[in-house]
Amino acid sequence: MNEKEIEECKALAKKIRLHTLKMVFNGKSGHIGSMLSTADIYPVLYKKVLKVDPKNPKWPERDRFLLSKGHGGAALLACLAECGFFPLDWLDRYYCDDGKLSGHISHHIPGVEFSTGSLGHGLPVACGMAMAAKRDGAKHRIIVMSSDGDLNEGSTWEAIMLAGQHHYDNLTMLVDYNRLQALGCSKDIIDLEPLGPKLEIFGWKAIEADGHDPQAIENALSQLPLEPGKPSAVIFRTVKGKGVSFMENEYKWHYGGLVEELYLKAKAEVEAMPPFAKATEGK
Ligand SMILES: [Mg+2]
Repeated sequence: MNEKEIEECKALAKKIRLHTLKMVFNGKSGHIGSMLSTADIYPVLYKKVLKVDPKNPKWPERDRFLLSKGHGGAALLACLAECGFFPLDWLDRYYCDDGKLSGHISHHIPGVEFSTGSLGHGLPVACGMAMAAKRDGAKHRIIVMSSDGDLNEGSTWEAIMLAGQHHYDNLTMLVDYNRLQALGCSKDIIDLEPLGPKLEIFGWKAIEADGHDPQAIENALSQLPLEPGKPSAVIFRTVKGKGVSFMENEYKWHYGGLVEELYLKAKAEVEAMPPFAKATEGK
């Protein structure tokens, strides 16, 4: 990416963070730490990697993106709205009784491929999509985002074994690897390390990358599959709550609401993140 594209990705990431903070504040709850963790990945995905058309969300040849950690879906919804899949003002009533956007993502929303929330569903369904695409000779790719908690699920590892054995090189798993989950540090609950070598034993090609650096994200995703004949895994090193000092690396911010004082403090911190061009929140 050139400098201008990198700045555009950073600016979109800032908008996503501002939207998600406002969505959680308005909705009085949400998985804010998990949303902020992924905010730098979506701009690169939707601007540089995925072949999708916001005006034709069901385009048959589109790439499929599934968010297996559906609880963090507000960041994805903010990105989809900014990309034109649906009106920005839908974000205003996120997690509200009269709103269109639920706390966990729903496939009734344009651009959302699959409803998720309970963990362990994204990769198995993505495997089915990869299998179908192979059988149909279709060229689209299937990309799924997993997480520490999602990789605690047995069904995720069944899918990892299936994809490796059957050489689904049209399938990519991104891992939002912030090493925290709902109730603590992943290493104290189910330690995933060494994650990359474990995936490679099951027939995948795995790499690690900085999940907050747009150029590193683009470099990791610019040539998929990472190795012909193998499913790809990109393990993104991320920080839960990234961008808000009192949320960063604090598992207690996995889920919760924001009182006005903390919302304004968090918003000011995100507004001060580079690039310094004023973000047009909600516009
Ligand atoms: Mg995590």
